[in-house]
Amino acid sequence: NQQIHLDNRPVGEAVASNFKLVSSETPALQDGQVLVRHHYLSLDPYMRGRMNDAKSYAQPQALGQTMGGGTVGEVVESKNPKFEVGNTVVGMGGWQEYSVVDANQPGALRKVDTTHIPLSHYLGAVGMPGVTAWYGLVKIIAPQVGQTMVISAATGAVGSAFAALSKARGCRTVGIAGGPDKCKYAVDELGFDACIDYKLHKDAASLSKALKEACPNGVDGYFENVGGMVLDAVLTRMNAFGRIAVCGMIAGYDGLPLPLAYPALILTQRLKVEGFIVSEHMEIWPEALKELGGLVATGKLKPRESIAQGIAAAPEAFLGLLKGKNFGKQLVKLI
Ligand code: NDP
Repeated sequence: NQQIHLDNRPVGEAVASNFKLVSSETPALQDGQVLVRHHYLSLDPYMRGRMNDAKSYAQPQALGQTMGGGTVGEVVESKNPKFEVGNTVVGMGGWQEYSVVDANQPGALRKVDTTHIPLSHYLGAVGMPGVTAWYGLVKIIAPQVGQTMVISAATGAVGSAFAALSKARGCRTVGIAGGPDKCKYAVDELGFDACIDYKLHKDAASLSKALKEACPNGVDGYFENVGGMVLDAVLTRMNAFGRIAVCGMIAGYDGLPLPLAYPALILTQRLKVEGFIVSEHMEIWPEALKELGGLVATGKLKPRESIAQGIAAAPEAFLGLLKGKNFGKQLVKLI
């Protein structure tokens, strides 16, 4: 069983030598446990925060241990009557080829149906990132028909699900993404009404002008994934009583400060700004997954994936995600 451990913590930017590839035997199963062979490993921005030894909502990743992370795969051995060999499952198996799971722990392993939805999508659009988009849009932004919604990191795992959910609610939906290819894809494939390439803008004032064109009626809901200049620019276009779901600030994850020039606009525009962590709202997952599964099964949401091959490729693929090299949900294919 090949695994990637966190070997040492980043000083500034994360680098490949923070990780170490190791091999170990999988232990014999105890009663209640199952052995899962992972088909895909999910790489997610939150993992960067866990590499630091700082106080946050999630425990830091322990040194010398397998990196945590979402996985999908199949049961290859079972000592648990609820799981059979061949079941396809989603869990938190971590950066390794196999995991031994105590399947009696609530939520440790969930069977998934791959008849209409490919297994890998349970780590993306029909998994944690999709539910994240759903929670921020439905519960925090609470959109109304005809309003304008904006999201940053628009073509990623969260952003692509957001587009389908927002369009389904009759909203003008505008993305912000890095580069012409991502922006073209956002409009042609994901259904965004417009997408702005933030890399063409050197400061918030210039990005704000582009937003004015794309959002002639202002912005009612903003789903924040990036922070910094992008947040500043969107703040200048928020309508009174607008809502901002603060989901992520990836521009600041890898050691950069995130200054904000216009916080006073939160007052003057009477904005509602609310941060959230999707795993603290498990009660909405079934409803969200049902809608997301329906959108994927009917082809209304066609999520794109960036797939790295083999466990040894995980660190580089993860560092690439932090630099926007992924185009769609970043996965590692393990078989
Ligand atoms: P993505 O698939 O969107 O990948 C990350 C993207 O972020 C990159 O492709 C890149 O897109 C963009 N990015 C990276 N660095 C920068 C930068 N310096 N400035 C601007 N953009 C950058 O990831 P996810 O969809 O999985 O996650 C999106 C956001 O949602 C993240 O902030 C993540 O932390 C957050 N999140 C929060 C959760 C919660 O519970 N609060 C749960 C899940 C995710 P581009 O090339 O377009 O710049």
